[in-house]
Amino acid sequence: YHAKLERDRISTYAPEFDINTVERLRLLADLRTALDSDQLHVVYQPQVDLHDLHTVGVEALVRWEHPERGLVPPDEFIPLAENSGLIFPLTALVLDTALEELARWRAAGDEIRLAVNLSARHLSDSALPSQVAAALARHDVPSSALVLEVTETGILSDPARADLVIREVRELGVEIAIDDYGTGNASLSYLKRLEIDELKVDRSFVSSIGDDRHDLIIVRSTVALALALGLRVVAEGIEDDATVETLRGLGRVIGQGYHLGRPGAPEEISARLARERTAETTPTPTPTTRS
Ligand code: C2E
Ligand code: MG
Ligand code: MG
Ligand code: MG
Repeated sequence: YHAKLERDRISTYAPEFDINTVERLRLLADLRTALDSDQLHVVYQPQVDLHDLHTVGVEALVRWEHPERGLVPPDEFIPLAENSGLIFPLTALVLDTALEELARWRAAGDEIRLAVNLSARHLSDSALPSQVAAALARHDVPSSALVLEVTETGILSDPARADLVIREVRELGVEIAIDDYGTGNASLSYLKRLEIDELKVDRSFVSSIGDDRHDLIIVRSTVALALALGLRVVAEGIEDDATVETLRGLGRVIGQGYHLGRPGAPEEISARLARERTAETTPTPTPTTRS
């Protein structure tokens, strides 16, 4: 209660010292420290072929274990990293960490893909393509196993430069996905003009296709359009089996969501892949005919 009074007083009398600004500055200083100390780590969420439920890829998602605050969600610190430029070392860290894991999974025989999120700022950074190439070389991973996720907003902030960076990245053999598709204001003209490989239909449409007729219509036509354009389609935010069933009926869709697998530590992904390999090679037990 006192803290609140204090906050109100400060924001009334000295708006330039808005508590939120102070708080943000503190968090930013902490983030700088976090980058050099071991507080940032990466978790991986499975992407699954909905027809046979095999893991075909993982998305790398950054986590910040703050020494006092505990887990700080990316939605809180990514914007901070973007505004301060810390997003560049952050992305480099995520890319490097995740490619190292990917190399390990692929060495075990699993030809899965890795998706890494980019921020808008990378799309106007002409150094990005060579940095991505260097990271791939460092871990000896084929470029076709890497997917970089960008958002519509990211592309729209400077379309000409974004086009150039995207083209150069694709020339390496790396694929580009449009993340959160349908929530920004990029539109069909982008699908036509841009060279992209994958479209990720946003969770806000997918998670409610079971009870919202309009969402179902939107998802169904988006999937049809993307498949017809030759794009891979990933549906985000699958939270139940009914959604899996519905999406299966729409064509070849890859699924991602809590129902199929939560983001987890690299060991969890390794265990999952090993389980899938065993299931593949173990003949299904002959059913007992007499009982
Ligand atoms: P995103 O790239 O769209 O990632 C998907 C987010 O949805 C993740 O949240 C994931 O945990 C969550 N999610 C997955 N399945 C479900 C589901 O079934 N239900 C619900 N309710 N949520 C689900 P997370 O990890 O909190 O990340 C949030 C956003 O932060 C990401 O959205 C991405 O935009 C950003 N982000 C995360 N890691 C990075 C990173 O390394 N670099 C950059 N630039 N951004 C990142
Ligand atoms: Mg993403
Ligand atoms: Mg997304
Ligand atoms: Mg999202």
